[in-house]
Amino acid sequence: MSLPEITARISAACARADRSPAEVTLIAVSKVQPADRVEAVLDAGHRVFGENRVQEAQGKWPAWKADYPGTELHLLGPLQSNKARPAMELFDAIHSIDRVKLATRIADMAQDLGRCPDLFLQINTGEEDQKAGVPPAQADAFIREARAMDLPVAGLMCIPPAQETPSLHFALLAKIAARNGLPGLSMGMSADFEQAIALGATHIRVGSAIFGERVTS
Ligand SMILES: *Cc1c(COP(=O)(O)O)cnc(C)c1O
Repeated sequence: MSLPEITARISAACARADRSPAEVTLIAVSKVQPADRVEAVLDAGHRVFGENRVQEAQGKWPAWKADYPGTELHLLGPLQSNKARPAMELFDAIHSIDRVKLATRIADMAQDLGRCPDLFLQINTGEEDQKAGVPPAQADAFIREARAMDLPVAGLMCIPPAQETPSLHFALLAKIAARNGLPGLSMGMSADFEQAIALGATHIRVGSAIFGERVTS
């Protein structure tokens, strides 16, 4: 477990960018990690975690949430509309709002539940076919539509293409967020979170650098 090392690197990156570490939330991405590794990070006092799949999270997190009060859970992976309700019941934030239909479904459920997680709209900055999110050219319209539904839109999220310089994508995401007056930027993973911090990330999603390599997926 190298949580202290990651925290130190976040502080250093913030210092270089003239930002306060309090502006950057570290989401420890615990998908498919063995329970003992996750518990070590919980025991160290960390309380913000990310998962990719609703079903996997449902199997692990209700018990941990009860044992470790104050735990905050973020959904990072694609969300099917028919899983919207359980996702909204379990997660405090959803980073993968990638289409109007899903936003509409969540707005309906929010009426029902009387609450709604913080939402990040996913932008497919690399315009990759296999990746979720709206293309940059449709981002402004998507943001307008989500806000018109009275949803708590916290910011934008992206996953840059594996072979490209991530900074270009982080800068593009930051530009779209700024012109729409959105404060949240969910960007940066194990390999590039320092660059993301330099470009304004407010939420970094770090898995393997904290927990070690994932055994599957
Ligand atoms: C798995 C995952 C991460 C964490 O990836 P690492 O490279 O292990 O830090 C971050 N964001 C999303 C959307 C993921 O699926």
